[in-house]
Amino acid sequence: MTQIYLDNAATTPLLDEVIDAMVVVMKNNFGNPSSTHTLGQEAKTIIEETRRKIANELHVSPAEIIYTSCGTEANNLILKSAVEDLKIERIITTELEHKCVAESVENLKNFKNVEVIYLNINEKGDVDIEQLQQLLKSSDKKTLVCLMHANNEIGNLLDLDRVADICKENGAYFHSDTVQTMAHLPLDFSKTLVDFASCSAHKFHGPKGAGFAFIRKSTHLKAQIHGGTQERNLRAGTENVVGIAGLGKAFEIATDNLEKFSSHIQEIKDYAIQRLSEKIPGILFNGRSAESDKSLYTVLSVSLPSQNPLIGLQLDMKGIAVSQGSACSSGAAKPSSVLSKILSEETQQNTTPLRISFSHKTIKEEIDALVNALVEILRL
Ligand code: PLP
Repeated sequence: MTQIYLDNAATTPLLDEVIDAMVVVMKNNFGNPSSTHTLGQEAKTIIEETRRKIANELHVSPAEIIYTSCGTEANNLILKSAVEDLKIERIITTELEHKCVAESVENLKNFKNVEVIYLNINEKGDVDIEQLQQLLKSSDKKTLVCLMHANNEIGNLLDLDRVADICKENGAYFHSDTVQTMAHLPLDFSKTLVDFASCSAHKFHGPKGAGFAFIRKSTHLKAQIHGGTQERNLRAGTENVVGIAGLGKAFEIATDNLEKFSSHIQEIKDYAIQRLSEKIPGILFNGRSAESDKSLYTVLSVSLPSQNPLIGLQLDMKGIAVSQGSACSSGAAKPSSVLSKILSEETQQNTTPLRISFSHKTIKEEIDALVNALVEILRL
C-alpha cells in the first residue's frame, strides 16, 4: 500500500540531503565541541557555522541563537527565564497556544505568582488585538506578551509586526512561538521586533531533537539548564552536533527554496479546498484556514459534516496519515483544545475535525486520494 503523508504540521520526513549532511558529521566529527584539540574544534566549527547562517537569515546576531533540543524546550526556556530574569508580573496570551506554552504559562501562574490574562478570541480564532492594546496602555505592570505566529491546528496567522510594535510602544516584552513558521515564512527580526522566538527542525524536514530559541541579546536572559558554559551560558550540556548539522542543512534548503516551496504548497492547499468543497457538501473550513492571506499555507483544518471519531483510523487503514486535531491531542479521546474554544457546541457535536497539512513533496494525486477516501468513508 502506498503511504500518503498529510500530517506535516506534526512532523516532516527528513530530506535525503539532510540525512547525508548528518551522516558525514556522524562519521567524521565525533569530537566534543568544548574540547580544545582539533577534533573538538572541528565539531565546534560546525555548530558555529550553522549558527552564523541561521542568524544571517533572520538578520540577528549569532549570539542570539541558542540551540535547544526542540521547540518545547525553546518555549520553556524563554518563558521561564523571562519571568525570572525580567521580573515579569503579568503574561498576556490566549487559550489557543501550543500545549508547551500553555502548560508553561500555567506553571508560572501557579508557582511564580504571575498574573495571566487570556485575550478574547472570536469564532474564527482571531486574537483581540485592540484588547491587548488597551490592557498594555492601562497598566504599567511588567508584561510579557506571548502569542504564536501560526496556530498549529488551524493555521491562523498573527500580524507579528503589528503586535511587536504595540508591545514596543507600551514597554512590554514579546515572545512568539514561531515553530510552525520558522523556515516557512520569511522572518527578519531586525525589522520585526519580537524579543523571543522558537524553532524546531523537524517541522521543516530536519531531525527531531534539534531546535533553537531566538533570544534578543538586550534582554539578558539566564539559563534554565545549568552545568557547563555551552550556548553562552544559556543552555548547558554537550551540543547535539549531528542534530545541529541537520538543522542547519534543513534550514538552508527551506530558506533557499522558500518561494518555490511556498507557492507549490499554496497551490496544493487551494486544490484541496476546491476538491473538498466540490465533493463533500457541508464541509466547513475552521478558523481562517481557507483564507490564503490569513492562514499558514501548510495547514488546512476542516470539519466534516457528520460525527465520526474513527475517521483518522479509517484513513490510516487506507494508507493516508492525517491528524484529527494536533499530534499532541490526536492520541487522546478529547477533542482538540483549539477547536473546542472556537467552534459552537452544535458544530462540535455534529462534525468531525481533520487537520490536513502539506509539504513541498505533496502532490495533487495525493489530495485526490484523500478526497476519494473521504467520500467512500462518509458514503457520499
Ligand atoms: N509550538 C508549536 C506551534 C508546535 O506546533 C509544536 C509542535 O507541534 C511545538 C511548539 C513543539 O515543538 P517540538 O515538537 O519540537 O517540541
